[in-house]
Amino acid sequence: MAAQSDQRYIALDVKCVATGVRHDAKSRAVCFVAVIDYGENILLQKAVKPEAPIVSYLTPLSGVREGDLDGAESTEVVIAQVKALLGPDVILVGQGLVKDIEWLCLEEGRDYGGIEELADMFKTYNSRYENYTFHSLRHEANTLLSEGFLSMGCNPVKEAIASVRLFKLYHGNTVLLEEAKRKLASTRFEPSFAKRNNSLYEGVCMGGRRCTCGAPRF
Ligand SMILES: [Zn+2]
Repeated sequence: MAAQSDQRYIALDVKCVATGVRHDAKSRAVCFVAVIDYGENILLQKAVKPEAPIVSYLTPLSGVREGDLDGAESTEVVIAQVKALLGPDVILVGQGLVKDIEWLCLEEGRDYGGIEELADMFKTYNSRYENYTFHSLRHEANTLLSEGFLSMGCNPVKEAIASVRLFKLYHGNTVLLEEAKRKLASTRFEPSFAKRNNSLYEGVCMGGRRCTCGAPRF
């Protein structure tokens, strides 16, 4: 395991509201950003006011309600603050980083040098269907850290802390990681938000099997 003070690893978590009815990143806008260092110190936690009108606050996912973003700073200002904390030597740690990177307009080689994607780290092979199961950060944290560690729509700071803690515990430790994967695969988890809502929430497509908006799948 790397040292407690490993400055290269930075955990990131972004929450979004919907500014369009499709499920892709273009139909979402950042409403909250959390940046945590390897020692689990909060480097930044900021609400963000999107420029585009909000179609849905996606409250069960974002935790944000109407009024919460009043007086929040602009996307541009917060992105500049995030970028000031990053650099080409930084390895980003998180779950669903590809989308977070797109939303924050981060550039590889300038804002970060690489990523550690937890969804890839914890994916489990399903021999019955001959495919991989990707687990949610909530399932990973609640199964491997402690029950109830993360709840739906909880503060992104907690999610970023969960990310860095999971990374510290399992990265580079093959034996522990394999054990963790077995636990993830054998522990019941609730269906995704998209599935429970038949891919539609307040008129906004949530993607998944019942996607009706036609935007490309990730
Ligand atoms: Zn869709």
